[in-house]
Amino acid sequence: MKIKIPVLEVLEFDLPKEHIEYFDLSIQYSIVDSPIKYSFGEIIFTEGNDGKKLILNAGEKEKLSTDRWRKLGGILAKFLRSHNILKLFLPEKIIIPLEGKELSAFFEGIFLGSYSFEYFKKDSTIEKIYLMVASKDISLKHEIVKIQKICSIVNYARELGQLPGNVINPPALAEICNGLAEKYNLKIKILDEKELEKIGAEAILSVGKGSSAQPKMIVLEYIAKKPNIEKPIVLVGKAITFDTGGYSIKSVDGIKSMKFDKMGGVTVLATILAASLLKIPRNVVGIICAAENMISHEAYRPDDIIKTLSGKTVEILSTDAEGRLVLADGLTYAQRNFQPQCIIDFATLTGGIVTALGKIRAGLFSNNSELSDQLFKSGETTFERLWPMPLDDDYFEFIKGDDADLKNSGGREGHPIMGGIFLKQFIETDVKWAHIDIAGAAISTKAENYQPKGANGFGIRLMLDFLNNQSVEE
Ligand SMILES: [Zn+2]
Repeated sequence: MKIKIPVLEVLEFDLPKEHIEYFDLSIQYSIVDSPIKYSFGEIIFTEGNDGKKLILNAGEKEKLSTDRWRKLGGILAKFLRSHNILKLFLPEKIIIPLEGKELSAFFEGIFLGSYSFEYFKKDSTIEKIYLMVASKDISLKHEIVKIQKICSIVNYARELGQLPGNVINPPALAEICNGLAEKYNLKIKILDEKELEKIGAEAILSVGKGSSAQPKMIVLEYIAKKPNIEKPIVLVGKAITFDTGGYSIKSVDGIKSMKFDKMGGVTVLATILAASLLKIPRNVVGIICAAENMISHEAYRPDDIIKTLSGKTVEILSTDAEGRLVLADGLTYAQRNFQPQCIIDFATLTGGIVTALGKIRAGLFSNNSELSDQLFKSGETTFERLWPMPLDDDYFEFIKGDDADLKNSGGREGHPIMGGIFLKQFIETDVKWAHIDIAGAAISTKAENYQPKGANGFGIRLMLDFLNNQSVEE
């Protein structure tokens, strides 16, 4: 199959003048004692002499949280697409009563909910939906344009996530990053297998050895205005473009959806693109550790002992615990080549985090309570929610190697924490670091409200909120 590289297009939001062709939106609320019952998100549409109308039920007013507004936006967008309604007019009576954050969430929902994965469909149904907003408020228009830009990047991350391993492998991802770096004014360095070998990054090399598509470490730099003053915030992402488990092969059911094992790296890529697009005044570095975990005569095996970039040796107990290996080299690279203000890594690291937290919250591990609190808060604000997990040194016992410094699996007990405590061994004591395990939260089981089925782009809005809250540190 010929690989078509996906293109990221950010549509400028436009406000046309005439709206005769448009559906007029109104929002109604459920009244508790009313005999007429509408459920949350129910939509009625009418077409008569007084024009075309859409009535969206927002449920009981008292129950409307910010995220419920986001959900309403998503439900509305999905309805518009499924009914081929491409023009929607939002009158002042909707805009004016809504608080700023409610309105922002509603638009986020519309832009995010309008996404669907059409890459392989012969007759793509993607059509532009025109929104007309009745407001002369310029700052409102700017806010909507900003939201639209952020959401198009989230949607792009979803698209990359949905693309399977025969389209996206490490070299293809590197090529995509190259194109984006040019367009988004980012510095890029791609370490291929030869360079990885030269510096001694044996962990990422071992994971990728079984595949003919060689691993890549992709380093992207977004330099805001004061490159010499500010230390960068470094993001590191796991991008296993497909994970078979290697010789510790996954089961028939377990191997399904392993194309999503690259979502940590995709989150990092999308965040740095958004930081550049929105001109966020923070220096950000993104390190994407890309490899394909396959089986061949070259593949690494259980019992192998490998030397990571840090110099620490690791005994392989399971070739399916590969994410922590590629990240170990990425984290070392980050500390050797940059002076990070802090490091945050994103990874679909463990099935254990899904057992612990389900798909509602991602696991948050950190060696610094201030950083952890800031990330937690951004999670609550954006509704990309996190939950703090422990990293006591007592857990180290389980990953201490017999014949090497470490082993890459600590057994089933405290499974997600084993991943965290392993990564912690690659962080210098004075470096602020957080690890976010998105194995559950980043992949939706079904399409609902503003989420698509599959890769949902979790973590990008979270990181943008976090970056916006950071003050300049020298
Ligand atoms: Zn694995």
